[in-house]
Amino acid sequence: MRIALILTNDWELPGDGSGDFWELQHRPLRQLLQVCQEFAAPLTVMAEVAQQWAHQVHASRFPALREEAQAWEADARQVLQAGGDVQLHLHPQWLDARFDEHRQRWILNCQQWSTGQLSEHRLRSVLKRGKDYLETLLRPVRHDYTCLAFRAGAYCLPPSHPVLSVLEEAGFRCDSSVAPGYRQAPYYDYRAAAQRVAPWYVSRWDVQREARYSGQILEIPVATVKDWQSPVLRRSLGLHGGSRVPAREERWWRAARQWRQAHYPLHQHPHATGSHATRWRWPRKLLHRSPLLLDYDLLPATHFVNLLERLALSPAARACVDRHGFLPLVVTGHTKNMPNADNLVWILEKLRRRWGNTIEFWTLTQAIQTWESAHAEVAGTDRFVSDVVPPKPSMNFAEATA
Ligand SMILES: [Zn+2]
Repeated sequence: MRIALILTNDWELPGDGSGDFWELQHRPLRQLLQVCQEFAAPLTVMAEVAQQWAHQVHASRFPALREEAQAWEADARQVLQAGGDVQLHLHPQWLDARFDEHRQRWILNCQQWSTGQLSEHRLRSVLKRGKDYLETLLRPVRHDYTCLAFRAGAYCLPPSHPVLSVLEEAGFRCDSSVAPGYRQAPYYDYRAAAQRVAPWYVSRWDVQREARYSGQILEIPVATVKDWQSPVLRRSLGLHGGSRVPAREERWWRAARQWRQAHYPLHQHPHATGSHATRWRWPRKLLHRSPLLLDYDLLPATHFVNLLERLALSPAARACVDRHGFLPLVVTGHTKNMPNADNLVWILEKLRRRWGNTIEFWTLTQAIQTWESAHAEVAGTDRFVSDVVPPKPSMNFAEATA
C-alpha cells in the first residue's frame, strides 16, 4: 500500500480580516516548518494572496502593514527553502478590502465570499495575477517553481464552470477545493463528488463530475471521513469518534478550541450559518455519521490517525492504489487555528510508529506530477477531451442566495 500524505495549510488571517499576522501566520508557520523538517514531511502552504495584495496597496501609508507584507514574502520563500511547496489560495472578500485607519482594522466585502461568484473577467485577472505573483516571488528561490494548484477560500468554488475554464486557460493543473460529502448552503454541496477518496480529472462543467476521458484539471480532494460527531460524548467522556484519546491530547484539544474562540469568536464569522464543525444539531449528530475533514488542527492526534488509517484501508483507497499505484491524500490545517504545533508532532510520531515507510510525505506539486506521469501513458491522446454537454447545475447559486 503506497500512501502519499500531503500536509496542506491554508495560510491566512480569519475570514473577517481580524487578527494579528505575527501571531496567526508568521510565528506558527515558522513552528510548522521546523516540525515538518524534523519529520521530513514537507508542508504545502496554500497562500491566500488577496490579503497580501491588500497589505501591499496600503503599505506606503502604514509602516506596520508594510512590515507584514514584507514578512509574508520572506515566509513564503522560507517554505520553499525548507523543502515545502506554496500554491494559490483565494478569499475573494479581500479583493475590495479597505483599511479603517482609526480603528486599525480591515473592512472586507463579505458578500463576495465564493470564488465562482466573481465575474469571468475578474476571475481571469485575479487567478492569473495570483499565479504570476507567486512565480515571480518564488522563482529566485527555486528556478523551476510553478504555481499549479488552486484552493478556493472556505472551499467555496461553485459555480465551478467559470472557475475551471479560467484555471485551465491560466495554466493551472490542479484544484484542491472539494471536500467530498461536505456542504454549506448556499455555497457548495460536495455530496455528489465523483470520488470519495481518489483524485479525478474534472469535467469542465462541474468540479464534482469526472471528465469522460482525461481532463485538464485534476481534482485532488481534501480528505474527509465519515464519523460519529457527538459533541456531548466528546465533552463528557473525552471520546473522539469512538477513540479514547490520551489526557494530554484532550487537554490540548480543549485549550486549542478556547484559543480559537478567543481569536475569532463565532459571532464574528461573516457566514456563521454554520459549518459541520460548528453547527450542532446534536440529537441528529448523535445518531448519524457525517463527513469530517482530516484537519490536523481540529482533531486530536489519536483521532486523526485512526481516521486516516480507516480511510487508507477503505475499499476506495485500495482500489485507487491498485489502479494508479498510489493514493495521494490531502489533509489540511490552518496556522490561525493552532496555538502550537504539538498536535502535529504527536500525529507525525504516531504515523511513523504505526506506518513506517508505508506512508510517504509529498508536496502537492509532487502529487500532481506523479499522478500526471502515471496517467500520461493511459490517457495518451484522449487527454484534453472533456465532456461536451453541460449538465444541469447541481446547485443554483443565484436562487440559493436570493
Ligand atoms: Zn482559506
